[in-house]
Amino acid sequence: MFDNLTDKLDSVFKKLRGQGRLTEDNIQQSLREVRLVLLEADVNFRVVKDFVANVRERAVGQEVLKSLNPAQQVIKIVRDELGRLMGEGQDNHLDLAARPPVPVMLCGLQGAGKTTSCAKLALKLRREKRNPLLVPADIYRPAAIDQLKTLGKQLDIAVFDSRADVDPVKLCTDARQFAELNGYDTLILDTAGRLHVDQELMAELQRIKQALQPREILLVADAMTGQDAVNVAESFDQQLDITGVILTKLDGDARGGAALSIRAVTGKPIKLVGLGEKLDALETFHGDRMAQRILGMGDVLSLIEKAQAAVDKDEAQAMEQKLRKEGFTLETFRDQLKTIKKMGSMESLLKLIPGAGKAMKQVGDMQLPDRELKKIEAIINSMTAAERRDQRILNGSRRLRIARGSGTTVQDVNLLVKRFTEAQKMMKKLQKLGPKGMKGMKGM
Ligand code: GDP
Repeated sequence: MFDNLTDKLDSVFKKLRGQGRLTEDNIQQSLREVRLVLLEADVNFRVVKDFVANVRERAVGQEVLKSLNPAQQVIKIVRDELGRLMGEGQDNHLDLAARPPVPVMLCGLQGAGKTTSCAKLALKLRREKRNPLLVPADIYRPAAIDQLKTLGKQLDIAVFDSRADVDPVKLCTDARQFAELNGYDTLILDTAGRLHVDQELMAELQRIKQALQPREILLVADAMTGQDAVNVAESFDQQLDITGVILTKLDGDARGGAALSIRAVTGKPIKLVGLGEKLDALETFHGDRMAQRILGMGDVLSLIEKAQAAVDKDEAQAMEQKLRKEGFTLETFRDQLKTIKKMGSMESLLKLIPGAGKAMKQVGDMQLPDRELKKIEAIINSMTAAERRDQRILNGSRRLRIARGSGTTVQDVNLLVKRFTEAQKMMKKLQKLGPKGMKGMKGM
């Protein structure tokens, strides 16, 4: 995500940091470069103009130049302003506080990811302990109704039994009645899409809006289409007064133009972002965190949230008990690996850690973390329980057996055992230090 943008801003700032003494001219020069980078990233030109003017106003002045580290100060201002551009307030949260069933309407052009986002949103809401009903209301695209029904089945989430020969407004009101009778608290309406914005479509969406009074009207827009997505957002907002945007396909968006422009152009917040085709790849959007990510500073808060979502409390307690009882062995290590895997791909997780994204690039293809993880798991899986509890019993013939069983080499097995033994020693040292010692290590 945003790889191009991150790389280019990084090289602008590297130059800035490299200056022995910073002058106003250096800063002006950097800002000109930032401007170009943003324009190349397909950020709306008016947005770029305002952005650079805001940064300039704050960055060019004695205060910054006199500060201990002027370059760092300039980067911080850019980060703040990027965050502000994408919205830092609380308005990224869905407002579902109303008498159930609460209607949430998703609209957008064909192919933007509307139907997929409906299913993703339903899953997200169920995880937040709501009871959603999916409502297919796109009667024109032949497969749309079936697509949503299939996704619903996959997730075990109820889908209203829409028929393509019923008026979409009636479908939605029928679905509301059905939800009331059956205890669903949220209606997720998958409305019709078109290839382009057209009046007939808008008229239909307005009728649905009139009849249902949705609490949220979310435009689903494809980040990869850059400024087109911004224009689409502008026209949907003019006609429907949307409450926010779901920006999809951010995982494939190297430039970031739509993410950086939509809010400034439409005044409406990006509320959710799609980060992949999988149905759990939908996240709440945080402008400030995104700014950090764009500047390669990581996103530790999102990482913590992911960890919390992946491990439920009982599981965490059971794991802690096991760790206490058995100590840090290959067996308990394997449990931890499983949890990490539940949090998403290792590569995407590493990008959330400050500096790790850049470090990974330097390592290049030498060791793809996910492949490494799979290898480690395969090796541990090929061990017997006794071997997992105490790797010291692993002699030559056992190592050979494990390598064969896991499709790896004896060198791979040796390396894992060596590294794990080192980690184990480190853990023991830490435990000896006790909680106080651990606290001292936090900055590591
Ligand atoms: P609709 O016509 O707007 O309903 O679009 P669909 O929901 O059918 O999605 C169109 C395509 O985009 C499908 O292949 C989806 O898997 C894909 N898609 C949707 N959201 C995302 C996303 O966040 N990331 C990626 N990579 N693909 C997505």
